[in-house]
Amino acid sequence: MVILRDSSTGPTVGVLALQGDFREHLRAFERLGVRAQAVRRAAELDAVDALVIPGGESTAMDKLITAFDLREPLQARLAEGMPAYGSCAGMVLLADTLVEPQHYLDGTTQQTLGGIDMAVRRNAFGRQVDSFEEDIDFAGLGDAGESERVRAVFIRAPWVESVGSGVEVLARASDGSGERADRIVAVRSGNRLATSFHPEVTGSGRIHQLFVRMMTGDA
Ligand code: GLN
Repeated sequence: MVILRDSSTGPTVGVLALQGDFREHLRAFERLGVRAQAVRRAAELDAVDALVIPGGESTAMDKLITAFDLREPLQARLAEGMPAYGSCAGMVLLADTLVEPQHYLDGTTQQTLGGIDMAVRRNAFGRQVDSFEEDIDFAGLGDAGESERVRAVFIRAPWVESVGSGVEVLARASDGSGERADRIVAVRSGNRLATSFHPEVTGSGRIHQLFVRMMTGDA
């Protein structure tokens, strides 16, 4: 059960709004009647009960996290156990390990925030085809925790190459054969969730609903 920052008004989800499709995530929570607000500053992070890291470009977000002095506050909240959900680039940011991280021109290397014991490869699906959609089985979405079929949109998406013990695999890419087949595309670790794909653009709201249930201790 999450400790609410302001228990009189219900939980507030923060959406990291430095770059990427944060507006779509804000709208997805609004459609569910859950308060959500953009987070760009440490003071805004202090006011939320959970954080979503959107799709976009993880290298750009990495640099902006440094520029906005957010790395230490974000890592502190994650270390405290704040619920967090990352889609696509957000999954990359939540990975404890990044496989073949980007090397920047200034000689530094891409960093993640960490939070989920998994190794993620960026742009993993992008070598064959930049974008694709498919229906996949997603575990734990039903009221009784059963799996449900969801439409998944992958845009230069990462995959999860390996997970540590305690990390549950919720979905795998199903379509086709070869490299793409059966790759891990959704995981849960306690109150942390990550998807390679973008439920914020398909509009069904079921994965955002799952995260809200995780936040409140109902899933
Ligand atoms: N390829 C991007 C990255 O590495 C992620 C793409 C996305 O979020 N759609 O950050």
